[in-house]
Amino acid sequence: SEKVQQRQDARSKEAFAKAKTVIPGGVNSPVRAFRSVGLTPVYVDRGEGYRIYDIDGNSYIDYVGSWGPLIMGHAHPKVVEAIVRTAEKGTSFGAPTELETMMAELVCERVPSVEIVRMVNSGTEATMSALRLARGYTNRSKIVKFEGSYHGHADSLLIKAGSGVATLGLPDSPGVPESTASHTITVPYNDLEAVKAVFEKFGEQIACVIVEPVAGNMGVVPPLPGFLQGLRDVTSAYGSLLIFDEVMTGFRVHYHCAQGLYGITPDLTCMGKVIGGGLPVGAYGGKREIMERIAPSGPIYQAGTLSGNPLAMAAGYTTLSLLTQETYERLEQLSVRLQLGFEANAAKHGIPSTINRVGSMVCPFFTDTHVINYDTAKTSDLNRFKAYFASMLDLGVSVAPSQFEGMFVSALHDEEAIDATIAAHDEALRRL
Ligand code: PMP
Repeated sequence: SEKVQQRQDARSKEAFAKAKTVIPGGVNSPVRAFRSVGLTPVYVDRGEGYRIYDIDGNSYIDYVGSWGPLIMGHAHPKVVEAIVRTAEKGTSFGAPTELETMMAELVCERVPSVEIVRMVNSGTEATMSALRLARGYTNRSKIVKFEGSYHGHADSLLIKAGSGVATLGLPDSPGVPESTASHTITVPYNDLEAVKAVFEKFGEQIACVIVEPVAGNMGVVPPLPGFLQGLRDVTSAYGSLLIFDEVMTGFRVHYHCAQGLYGITPDLTCMGKVIGGGLPVGAYGGKREIMERIAPSGPIYQAGTLSGNPLAMAAGYTTLSLLTQETYERLEQLSVRLQLGFEANAAKHGIPSTINRVGSMVCPFFTDTHVINYDTAKTSDLNRFKAYFASMLDLGVSVAPSQFEGMFVSALHDEEAIDATIAAHDEALRRL
């Protein structure tokens, strides 16, 4: 027997209407507006562990986790304490602090390919800066990215992008000059032959290949065996850099990030989300010889008033310190349980379904097709997703309001929460 809570949303509706008068679309990042699912966004009041509570008094088991950062759950007492303790000494100095070095040491220790690392304030800044570095280092202009991948909203990377661009079905963004876009070459994810063909034609002009080692912005799409190694080989052969965008996968899929999970060494790595522990942080790092080309040790410019911010470093450092090898075993256990439950439900209701998962990144697609790239991700029945999303919300489960985003299990979820989620999914599929 399902315990169905009657979800209230009067206050969220009112808050959204008010926000729309002073904020474009009412939100500070597009997918939050719930536009593609045709609902009013949930206005959050607070979070604790795996739960969030909205301003209408509803509570939800949360799998958004601020779009990835909250691997240790909402308002983790140790993270909150570190932020408070640090804030009492001042919030920003624009001068070096020892905390930044502690953070950098920890990142270098955990991320196999990273010898030195520069902190920035978002994933967008990390990829944008890594791209400039790759271009400056190689003295080449062209870059290769994959269709349906999202690397933040820098001009060069906003071409055939995933995430909100995919969710809203938008073409490449107006405002990106033709001259900039012409340097970005896109190929289907997991298609090594297409990458090789591009290199045969433009190899000497390609500064870098940027790739999400597990694609997380067209739903969740794991790399096929040999794909990442193939990228490593072809970039090395042509003197191009291989950039892993681990903004989502970093410290999410493995203790040593995706590069540790798959045993591939990129030249540069972009990070974000988990390393900020819920505060605005990004980072890029890699081979010393390349990274030393950044100012002030080199001529390639990149800077930031709030970069290395003490509160952000405290939250990130504490979050990374809480993550142990055992955390990832626990995440795997919980996530497998969720996947198996979803698969059993889909079979029971006869709903075409493919559940993609890498570690605690999980994505149920409404399709029978093997999802290996953006085209196959788009075979998912988006009307079904829309109805499923609305039911899940009514049943007290918060997932991303888009088929092209994954679910993030946190280490604070437990068997009870997972089983309640599986029960809600069962009921949501029954209602389809
Ligand atoms: N790269 C990837 C792989 C991402 O998933 C994201 C954000 N979803 C970004 C870059 C951009 O990060 P931010 O939103 O912090 O700018």
